[in-house]
Amino acid sequence: MSFIVAIDGPAGTGKGTVTKILSKKFNLVNIDTGATYRCVTLDMINKGVKLEELDKIKEILKNIKIEIKREKGEQKTFLNGDEVTEKIRSKEVTELVSQVSSIKEVRLSMVDLQRKMAEGKDVIMEGRDIGTYVFPAADVKIYLDADLEERAKRRFNQNKEKGINMSYVDILNNIKQRDENDKKKEIGALKVAHDAEVIDSTTMSINQVVREISSIIEKKKKDIKMQKKIYKVRKETKWKKFVRAIVKETLRTVYRIAFRVKITGKVPEDGAYIICSNHINYLDAAAIVLFNKRKVNFVAKEDLFTHGILMWLGHLFDAIPIKRDMQDIEAMKRCLKVLKNGELLGIFPEGTRKGMAKNMKAKNGAAFMAIKSGVKVIPTGIHGTFKPFSKVYINYGEPIDLSEYKNQKDKLDEATDIIMNKIVELTKEEPKN
Ligand code: C5P
Repeated sequence: MSFIVAIDGPAGTGKGTVTKILSKKFNLVNIDTGATYRCVTLDMINKGVKLEELDKIKEILKNIKIEIKREKGEQKTFLNGDEVTEKIRSKEVTELVSQVSSIKEVRLSMVDLQRKMAEGKDVIMEGRDIGTYVFPAADVKIYLDADLEERAKRRFNQNKEKGINMSYVDILNNIKQRDENDKKKEIGALKVAHDAEVIDSTTMSINQVVREISSIIEKKKKDIKMQKKIYKVRKETKWKKFVRAIVKETLRTVYRIAFRVKITGKVPEDGAYIICSNHINYLDAAAIVLFNKRKVNFVAKEDLFTHGILMWLGHLFDAIPIKRDMQDIEAMKRCLKVLKNGELLGIFPEGTRKGMAKNMKAKNGAAFMAIKSGVKVIPTGIHGTFKPFSKVYINYGEPIDLSEYKNQKDKLDEATDIIMNKIVELTKEEPKN
């Protein structure tokens, strides 16, 4: 999986400079998308092609060869084999590029090229539409902004260093016009992606901007690493089984000292079932897992796995991490696999602790999986105060068959209600003995 950093924003915000530094710092391939549009513009100027000559532009797009390479530590741009790094920054190109990049055919062709340039690589890409259009799922999205006058001043100084002759007023007007034009584009207009971090660099130094973006990139990298750890599937081995058996026995003993566990009903000794229980305390899942002869693969919110010991226990007992605020397809697939293997799956349909008491709508993932896999649900009612030495009741009900709901997606809520009603009944039941 490649890592993508998108740096968007209007002209003169320092995107180029910042991107260059960050690309070296994080070892990311630097792709300047503006340079691709500038190359098309230069090719048109060289060939005397006008903006309205669409057929000729299409011909150019068919044959154009744009390469962005690193040579002796410097980023160089090549157009049809010739180095054009400086030429594409000329006044003529700068004045025309925004209009060229508004042509639909040019955009589609360049976006295609930009995506190909990034294929399979870790990249930092600067432009206008990277986070919104080219890579809407980029890992890091930054929108760099600054006041118009400040941007014009920066570009003026930059041009002076490069020997490009353009007056401050010309630059100011050009940037203003390009911004307006870029914001109006039919495809890939300049705008802030909803999930982008906006940085206003008007009063910031390059180093400050670099530091701010660096910390965002570092945090993202850390999150990705953690996600990999959380979602890693530890293979079942003899050693894992052995450790699990010892840990289970030990924790069960501790649990028995802390609480008096009373169980009614039972879980069949083999075959796939979904154990659906109410959720009143973190320790209720532990009771179901520890006081079951079989392994119960519990679905648990992914945040639980970020703590060292809980992550270890989660992996040992094959708990399935789930992202709660979205449809987690990966978790769903893992659950279905557990059921296919004839194992037990544990789910809290309330989604969160004391969901029923909080009047929250039960999630219908359990009903969905039961219906999809044809597996029965074991409704389970847990009650107790979980105060030290108090009684904890686990009441298993008769397995519920939801097969009549097969192919009735619109009746998932009804199937969930059947499960929840039974759970509620079971939470009131106290064992007869
Ligand atoms: O970034 P730079 O100033 O080199 O970009 C030149 C022009 O290319 C911009 O003014 C904009 O019109 C266009 N462009 C674009 N989409 C991008 C990058 C640049 O439309 N992703």
